[in-house]
Amino acid sequence: MDSIERLSSLFEKFPGIGPRQAGRFVHYLLRSSPSLRKELIDALQNLGGSVKQCRECMRYHAGTADVCGICANPQRDNRLLAVVASDADLAALERSGTFSGHYFVLGGTISLASEHTSNLRLPQLLQAVSSRMKKGLEEIILALPANPEGDATAVRVREELAASALRVTNLGRGLSTGSELEYADPETIKSAFNSRR
Ligand SMILES: [Zn+2]
Repeated sequence: MDSIERLSSLFEKFPGIGPRQAGRFVHYLLRSSPSLRKELIDALQNLGGSVKQCRECMRYHAGTADVCGICANPQRDNRLLAVVASDADLAALERSGTFSGHYFVLGGTISLASEHTSNLRLPQLLQAVSSRMKKGLEEIILALPANPEGDATAVRVREELAASALRVTNLGRGLSTGSELEYADPETIKSAFNSRR
């Protein structure tokens, strides 16, 4: 395997990236300046050292604190907790600027082929919910992907949360059925929050 094929096969391991897109990344890097490639190498090398997983929302954040900037922010609304599948979905909701509550990153969705839930952070979610209830949590918003896996995950999370007696809502749909939060524009996300039920 030559160096182009090797890099391409590494990009193919990324979520949602197929051989064609991986090839485009490699060709972009071949055309780009040595300084950009150097920056990329530095960023990758530093990733291990300066990134931590937040012990409250479970997202990865840059820094050395145990708790990320969102969880540590006293301005956030303690009454709301949005459960998202991935760090990327959390970032999309943050970018939209429409949600001021807290988050929990589940770490994925149920695979319909296997129905495995071992990849999901369900025990950690229950722990986060019980500690957030002491701080005034009232509603859990399931902001999961609008696809069969996301729907199955929502059902499972609702079962897990049934004993908590909290209000559990799903993001409204209809505007972008099948589209992922990660790629949704701020208006779509805002409307999905406003039409949650
Ligand atoms: Zn956090």
